[in-house]
Amino acid sequence: MKTSIFILSIFALLVLDLSLQSCSNRPAQCPLCDRDVHEHMAVKITHNSIPLKTCCMSCALTYRNQEKNVKIVSATDFQTNATLVPENAFYVVDSDVKPCTHDPRVQKVLREQHETFYACYDRCEPSILAFSKQQDAEAFQQEHAGHVEQFSGLMKWLPVKGGHHHDR
Ligand SMILES: [Zn+2]
Repeated sequence: MKTSIFILSIFALLVLDLSLQSCSNRPAQCPLCDRDVHEHMAVKITHNSIPLKTCCMSCALTYRNQEKNVKIVSATDFQTNATLVPENAFYVVDSDVKPCTHDPRVQKVLREQHETFYACYDRCEPSILAFSKQQDAEAFQQEHAGHVEQFSGLMKWLPVKGGHHHDR
């Protein structure tokens, strides 16, 4: 009886410790690339039914291309943070707004390079921002360049598919 209470209290301490760690104020990290998850472009996926919150659509689609049983569950409206059904959203691909690769750990490398020089491969490139309305995506594209796409057209922009390289 005493032993089981001892084990229980150890277990309780462990649980407390874990919950304290998860209460820190750091932004959530993407489990796929360790970058901070930007709330206005988070993408929820499941892998073997386990839910994961990823930093961006490029990162999530790259993962889906690499692993089996990955489903893209939802996207986030870049302007309103609303949760979107991926197939119903409109996307601006490869605009000049690239929150993921503005991560300081990446900037450290890119800042020293000529401004048109991009990393050869980055799982968060190109930037893919989601919008609930086509007109919002088009207005954003007018201002920030890029290409308006629907969900089914996104894969062709990803380097993993071999169709798009940053060798400009
Ligand atoms: Zn990521």
